[in-house]
Amino acid sequence: MVRTFKLEKFHASLIPESTIFKVFRYLDKEIIETPFLFLDKERVKEKISLIGRFIKNSKVFYAVKANPDIEILRFLNGLKMGFEISSEGELEILSTLSVEPSRIISSNPVKSLKFLKFAASYGINYFSYDSSDEVDKLSEYIPNCNVYIRLSVPNEGSEWPLSRKFGVELDTASALLSYAREKSLNPVGITFHVGSQCTNIYNWHIALDKARILWDKAEKNGIKLRLLNIGGGYPINYTKNVITIETIEKNVNSLIYNKFPKDVEIHIEPGRAVVGDAGILVTSVIGKARRSDEDWLYIDVGVFNGLMESVGGIKYSYIVESYKHTKHKKRWTLAGPSCDSFDVIDRNVSLPEPDISNLILILSSGAYTVSYASEFNGFSIPKTILI
Ligand SMILES: *Cc1c(COP(=O)(O)O)cnc(C)c1O
Repeated sequence: MVRTFKLEKFHASLIPESTIFKVFRYLDKEIIETPFLFLDKERVKEKISLIGRFIKNSKVFYAVKANPDIEILRFLNGLKMGFEISSEGELEILSTLSVEPSRIISSNPVKSLKFLKFAASYGINYFSYDSSDEVDKLSEYIPNCNVYIRLSVPNEGSEWPLSRKFGVELDTASALLSYAREKSLNPVGITFHVGSQCTNIYNWHIALDKARILWDKAEKNGIKLRLLNIGGGYPINYTKNVITIETIEKNVNSLIYNKFPKDVEIHIEPGRAVVGDAGILVTSVIGKARRSDEDWLYIDVGVFNGLMESVGGIKYSYIVESYKHTKHKKRWTLAGPSCDSFDVIDRNVSLPEPDISNLILILSSGAYTVSYASEFNGFSIPKTILI
């Protein structure tokens, strides 16, 4: 079946045309049940080659929570990627792939005891923390392990802030480094997260300045640090072109080079930037309605089964299958399939009019979509197809 899509110039300015055409070819050949998430292997590989390239002495750990699909993890494992995990569930998947413990770190500052036991038996040796309770837990379950303190940093320039939940200020951080040493852990470094989908380079500036102050405080207390974990946060293009990874990294690298010892080790933990813009959700139109002056368009992926981040303000770009060839676009209220009124993806979305059963492709949807999804109301979670 050959389908007609309304491809526009801006689509190919956001993500590579090759990824879009790969989906088109796939849809021409295969009869598929929507919804599903298409993930372009080549694009993932390209992103990986970009990340860390401009930061000296760096290692990259994929934040598994962005998309823990086993085929993706198998693919990344084949490329000898590192992994950042938070739970026994994530470790379970990595263990089935026999990922070496030296390639796994955990930067969740609050870890469950179940996870700590599993991590200890698996041989993982790098953990973040931001409380004395976490030090007590770690010293009991994984004595002498390497730890790095999570510093609180501004998240203003990011679309998905994380700083309210984790991280401590300088004095507490400094005291906690000393406390870790008292408890015979090995305090090796500092971490922070500038917030996810961070498009403001200044966030990294502030974070690195703050980290440098803590670095000195630790040194004064006789703790010589060697590791700087700069977290995730690299952004992708959703509806517009954002600052590139290359620009961010060149900047960050020169800041590190100016502020820190020349032999500092850098860990980077990208999630969104690895898989996000390699993914395209393929959904179907299941209904249309006009009510109180609004045109509603219902598709089979919504807030609950894939597009949870729309609630936090992430906006997507869409390619519509349309036979009508109308130049005219309508403003739609785009909604998911469930009966909950919370299930509204976006408002005032300008799209050509599709028919029932036509497909709508959602660009840059490879990260924090299926990993957030539930089967609420009986609507299935999109399966991931890696090709
Ligand atoms: C979620 C998370 C990441 C990944 O963040 P992205 O914005 O997806 O790059 C990295 N590190 C930690 C500790 C996280 O919680």
